[in-house]
Order: sequence, then C-alpha cells, then structure tokens
Amino acid sequence: MSNIVAIVGRPNVGKSTFFNRLIQKREAIVDSVSGVTRDRNYGKSEWNGKEFSVIDTGGYIKGSDDIFEGEIRKQVELAIDEADAIVFLVDVEEGITPMDNEVAKLLRKVTKPVLLVVNKVDNAKREQDAFEFYNLGLGEYVTMSGMSGSGTGEVLDKIVEIL
Ligand code: GDP
Ligand code: MG
Repeated sequence: MSNIVAIVGRPNVGKSTFFNRLIQKREAIVDSVSGVTRDRNYGKSEWNGKEFSVIDTGGYIKGSDDIFEGEIRKQVELAIDEADAIVFLVDVEEGITPMDNEVAKLLRKVTKPVLLVVNKVDNAKREQDAFEFYNLGLGEYVTMSGMSGSGTGEVLDKIVEIL
C-alpha cells in the first residue's frame, strides 16, 4: 500500500473534521505505538474508485503556545517520512500565523507532492480572504469548508491526482 496522504497543520485548522469526513463510515485505526506516533489517527478513504490511507496528525496537541511548536514540527517531519502526499491545512478565519509559516518552511523543502488547502471558506467573502495564502510560498491552493463539505470534492480530486 503506497497511497498514503497525511493531513498536517497547526491546531484548530480543521484537520480532524476533514479526516472524519474522508473516512466516513470507515473505521479510524488508532495507533498504539507510544510517543509522537501515538498522536495520529489512521483511516481508509476512497474517491473515484481510488483507495488511499489518510493520517490525521496532532490529535493531542491543544493550544498554540511555544512549547507545542516542537511537537508540530515532529508531526510534520513524521508525515513527510511516512506519507506519499501531504495536505497542508490552513484556516482563513485566522489567516497566516507564525506557525503556518514554520510548517510552510518545512514543506517548501519537500520533494513529495504538497497540496495547500485553505479551510473554513464557508462563504464567498472568505474566498477573497484566501488570497493571502499565496504568501506562504507554496503556490496554488484549493479552498473548502470541511464543516459544510463545500469544495471537498475538488480537494479530493486533487488528492487522487497527486497520489
Ligand atoms: P484540528 O485541531 O486541526 O483537528 O481541528 P478540528 O477539526 O478539531 O476543528 C477545530 C474547530 O474548527 C472545530 O470547532 C470545528 O468545528 C471547526 N471547523 C472545522 N472545519 C471548519 C469549517 O470548514 N468552517 C468553520 N467555520 N469551522 C470549521
Ligand atoms: Mg485534530
């Protein structure tokens, strides 16, 4: 099995909400390995007949204080090692944060495909707000509302395209 996509990003951007949507009615496999690897959920998904595995990262990381930055870095580095493609989730409500820039810096060096997804684009105004994410230096992005499901089809199209 080599179709593994990891969802990375700082806390509260909507990673788990999107993960749960992807693995709908499927079972999340909770990793029992201790340490940082425990902080991940694994699930299976399928789109247009293509099956793939999904890793939701950073489950136990709460808040946004400095002490968590190292943890997020570890999660991203693990995801880069383990996955075939990376979905980098950011949040249009909050805009670009220093932690987003840190993650972007790591991902700019990666040779594996990275898909930048601007989440919480719940309405047309937020579509305009999303432009600022070009400043992350990762090129094109796709927008979605992981909560309502709007745009998630396009995100899935892109995911199976890059896997
Ligand atoms: P995680 O920490 O990255 O896993 O984020 P969660 O999936 O736990 O979501 C954090 C918060 O953002 C929750 O209150 C979600 O309901 C909310 N959220 C997730 N996706 C969306 C979205 O598309 N729009 C809005 N407005 N809120 C969202
Ligand atoms: Mg989560």
